[in-house]
Amino acid sequence: MDSQSVLATLQQRYANEPEFVQAVEEFLLDVAPVYDENATYQALSLLERMTEPDRIFQFRINWEDDQGNVQVNRGWRVQFNNAIGPYKGGLRFHPSVSVSVLKFLGFEQIFKNALTGLPMGGGKGGSDFDPKGKSDAEIRRFCYAFMRELGHHIGADVDVPAGDIGVGGREVNYMFAMYKNMTREFTGVLTGKGVGHGGSLIRTEATGFGLVYFLERMLEANNDSMQGKKVLISGSGNVAQYAAEKVIELGGVVLTLSDSKGTLHIKDGLTQEQLEWVKQQKLDRKPLSDFTAKFGGEWLDGQRPWHIAADIALPCATQNEINGDDAQNLVKNGVKYVAEGANMPSDMDAINVFQDNQVRYAPGKAANAGGVAVSGLEMSQNSLRQYHTFETLDQQLKQIMTNIHDTCVQYGKQDDGFIDYKKGANVAGFTIVANAMVNYGTL
Ligand code: GLU
Repeated sequence: MDSQSVLATLQQRYANEPEFVQAVEEFLLDVAPVYDENATYQALSLLERMTEPDRIFQFRINWEDDQGNVQVNRGWRVQFNNAIGPYKGGLRFHPSVSVSVLKFLGFEQIFKNALTGLPMGGGKGGSDFDPKGKSDAEIRRFCYAFMRELGHHIGADVDVPAGDIGVGGREVNYMFAMYKNMTREFTGVLTGKGVGHGGSLIRTEATGFGLVYFLERMLEANNDSMQGKKVLISGSGNVAQYAAEKVIELGGVVLTLSDSKGTLHIKDGLTQEQLEWVKQQKLDRKPLSDFTAKFGGEWLDGQRPWHIAADIALPCATQNEINGDDAQNLVKNGVKYVAEGANMPSDMDAINVFQDNQVRYAPGKAANAGGVAVSGLEMSQNSLRQYHTFETLDQQLKQIMTNIHDTCVQYGKQDDGFIDYKKGANVAGFTIVANAMVNYGTL
């Protein structure tokens, strides 16, 4: 079957999974030409196989709240593709989590992980549990309960989860504790563990730092640099925080952060001291809007950052946070570079606007791969039973982001010299996974 027929079938079969279908559509815009001229790929039905998860586990999570009532949530793990390594990808705890969202994330993860050059397949999981407003004890009880079910399906050489939205170091530690208790094994079954008990240095910073390392390479490719650049960042969680930290370190000006309630606009640029306050505020699960009472700046209630004039946009919040109109605003207000810290933050209309206007646009599967890359380095440290230093790992992260950038250039450079990072990332990621599947034959 050619790619259009595969897509048409998916669109029909999964009409109720819009995020997943969107991720496949976006991928196929670049991969279809490669796929459709390759008889071997089609004879092996590679696309049908790549777009259908190997398996999906669904389970119920009972947990006791602080009032002694039993609460019930749903949990899933999508094991999408293990052609090049154990399933690997984060866990998301957010009320919006559904099979569709996890399939889109798992699908993207396959190619992102391939681009890192490390042996990791693609997977994703999570729950519709909402950590907002929960006490530490409730979070702990939920994490234990979640792992009591998930623990049956994962393993250091099988499937290695990590964090994502709503799941940070604290949650990973609780889940690891339950797995260790259930199996009596201390293995690299989760990444993002605490430093000193299996975790890797720089894992916390990796997605944000890696994003800015990638951006630096994009700027270099245009004989440009970070110095003095005005940067819009959305989100204020793990990715946004460490992206902001690296931008500040490199002499850029961070104009915004945001949360689900609105945007913080700091005209003179966020300082490191203010960023430390934001980190603590988020850890305490308190609102970003408290910032202005302490430090000044402007709170834009209910707004996203995309109407503010800047040079660079780093969407680091969540999927579909930039639509076509937002993208038009960004272009109109001078943005020349967009690098995605979140997964699929730009919708299809937005991507079209970027491409029509020659905006240098790096999709999440390339630009935010630093997080999972250091997860891969955590897995190898766990297997070796050794720890590497911060400097070594930072160097490795930088090298991996440079390699991904260069791979995107190799597969995405147009005749006029313009670099289509999206095409580069999609075609390169697909090629790596497809080659492995071809070598395996029909299994
Ligand atoms: N959730 C992150 C991502 O979207 C990291 C996954 C991992 O470290 O396994 O890539």
